[in-house]
Amino acid sequence: MSEAGTLAAAPARQHRAAAWHIAKVADSRPETTTARRIELEVPTWPGNDAGSHLDVRLTAPDGYQATRSYSIASAGPGTRVVLAVDELPDGEVSPFLVHDLRAGDQLELHGPLGAFFVWTPPADDETPRPVQLIAGGSGVVPLYAMASAHAAAGDATEFRMLYSVRTPDDVFFSDELAALAAADPPLQLDFIYTRSVPEGWPRSAGRLTRDLLDAAAVPAASRPRVYVCGPTPFVEAVAGWLIDAGHRPGDVRTERFGGS
Ligand SMILES: Cc1cc2nc3c(=O)[nH]c(=O)nc-3n(C[C@H](O)[C@H](O)[C@H](O)COP(=O)(O)OP(=O)(O)OC[C@H]3O[C@@H](n4cnc5c(N)ncnc54)[C@H](O)[C@@H]3O)c2cc1C
Repeated sequence: MSEAGTLAAAPARQHRAAAWHIAKVADSRPETTTARRIELEVPTWPGNDAGSHLDVRLTAPDGYQATRSYSIASAGPGTRVVLAVDELPDGEVSPFLVHDLRAGDQLELHGPLGAFFVWTPPADDETPRPVQLIAGGSGVVPLYAMASAHAAAGDATEFRMLYSVRTPDDVFFSDELAALAAADPPLQLDFIYTRSVPEGWPRSAGRLTRDLLDAAAVPAASRPRVYVCGPTPFVEAVAGWLIDAGHRPGDVRTERFGGS
C-alpha cells in the first residue's frame, strides 16, 4: 500500500486519544433482572471502536473517589455512549449505577480505552477471517458491540457468538441479539445456560465445558480471531481450552472483568 493510502486509511483505525469527559445520563432502564442499560450523552466523546471500554469515576461529597471500568456497548463516531452494568450486590460502584443513577445525572468518564480488544472491519488488503465471540455473563457487552459493528459495516465475514449466561432472563441485549441472528449474513448465536434453560432446550443447565466449546466454536483449523470476555475464571478456562484445541495465542484476545 502506498504511503498516501496508509494515511487515508488511518482515521478509521487509529486509536482515539483517551481523555476525561463529563457525561449526562440520557436514559437508564432495566436490561435484565440484575442489570441496567445506561445511555450517556457525552458531547466531547471522540467516538470509539467496537469492544473498547471506559472508566467511570464517582466522587462522594467527602471527596472519596471510586473508579471502575465498563465496556461500551455502542461503537462508531457518535456522542451517545451505551453501557450495561450488572449489579454485584456487595459491590461499591455497581449498585449505585444500577439503582441510584437517574436521567439527567452527570458522570465523569475516562476513555475510550483499549486498542487491542476491539474489532474493526477488515481492510481491503486483509484476508477476511472468521470471528468467534465467547461471552460469560456481562462479558457480552463489548462482544455485542462487535457483532453490531459487523452488521452495520455489512461485512460478510463469518461471525459466531457463544454466550454463557445463568438463565434466559439474564441475557443482555436479548432483542438486539435475536435481530442480529436473523440478519443477513446472520450472527450464529449459541447459548449455554448455567442455571436454568428455556422450555424444550436440548441440554440441561450447566457450565461451559471443553467439549461444548469444541462443538460450538469455529475450529482452530479455520484460523478465527477469537474474543473472550467475562469473569476472570471463565476467561482463563476458555482461553486455556482454545490454546489446547490448537488456536494460536495471538489469535485469542481476552478481557477479564474481575472476580475469582
Ligand atoms: C475492562 C473491563 C470492562 C468491564 N465491563 C463491564 C461491563 O460492561 N458491565 C459490568 O457489569 N461490569 C463490567 N466490568 C466489571 C466492573 O469494572 C466492576 O468490577 C463491577 O461493576 C463490580 O464493581 P463494584 O464496585 O460493584 O464491586 P467491587 O466493590 O469492586 O467488588 C465487590 C466484590 O465483587 C468481586 N468482583 C469484582 N468484580 C467482579 C466481577 N466482574 N465478577 C465477579 N466478582 C467481582 C470483588 O472481588 C469483590 O469481592 C468490567 C471490568 C473491566 C476490567
